[in-house]
Amino acid sequence: RASIGRLRSAPPFLVSRLWLDRPVARDRPGFLGTSGYGPLDNVSVLERWEGEAARWARRTGGSVLELHAYAVSPDADRAAVQAEALRQAHRVYPETRDARIVDERHEWRADCPMFPVGGYRDRPGVRGPDPAVTVAGDMVRTGLPVALMERAVTSGFLAANAHLERWGVRGQTLWTVPRTGRSPVLR
Ligand SMILES: Cc1cc2nc3c(=O)[nH]c(=O)nc-3n(C[C@H](O)[C@H](O)[C@H](O)COP(=O)(O)OP(=O)(O)OC[C@H]3O[C@@H](n4cnc5c(N)ncnc54)[C@H](O)[C@@H]3O)c2cc1C
Repeated sequence: RASIGRLRSAPPFLVSRLWLDRPVARDRPGFLGTSGYGPLDNVSVLERWEGEAARWARRTGGSVLELHAYAVSPDADRAAVQAEALRQAHRVYPETRDARIVDERHEWRADCPMFPVGGYRDRPGVRGPDPAVTVAGDMVRTGLPVALMERAVTSGFLAANAHLERWGVRGQTLWTVPRTGRSPVLR
């Protein structure tokens, strides 16, 4: 309980969704990670992979963009960050500069786990002192080289397996890359 009490949330992040009156260039990928563009961390073209956005884009001839900015300073001027993320998106996809924004949503949240240097030991593992209680989620220590959604899912399987084991039921096999280096000397 004490170590769980020490867990902290990461700084706020922004998700901006923009409905544009014209499409981005045909060769733009569904997801693009960016670096060196101010607060902008990635740009998604939603109609490439999301049904509702695809239908809207087909109907209107527009594009649905999503811009993410992670780990924004809690003191930042949020309107300014939103404007800067958009300005940077114009640099990444210049064809969006002249697009009219038909609608927009800006979501600010701060509910992601933080992973400070040296914090690994403090994170809960799947199994705790009580065999009836297991923990799953993307902040859980699994011992496997996974993160984010993959860690959430992996820890979910591990948690389910822990209960199934108690009840004598076969669980789900999890595959992973090797957990030790190939060369014994370098391990
Ligand atoms: C903007 C953004 C972009 C991301 N992009 C990627 C990506 O590209 N790839 C990737 O792998 N991961 C990505 N992630 C991370 C991914 O979303 C998380 O790793 C994953 O959702 C964690 O799953 P989880 O089940 O641990 O937690 P969550 O998905 O957060 O689920 C926790 C649930 O618990 C509910 N809850 C909270 N408190 C209570 C309560 N007291 N009672 C009942 N319910 C409660 C919440 O409402 C929520 O539904 C991204 C995250 C964000 C925020």
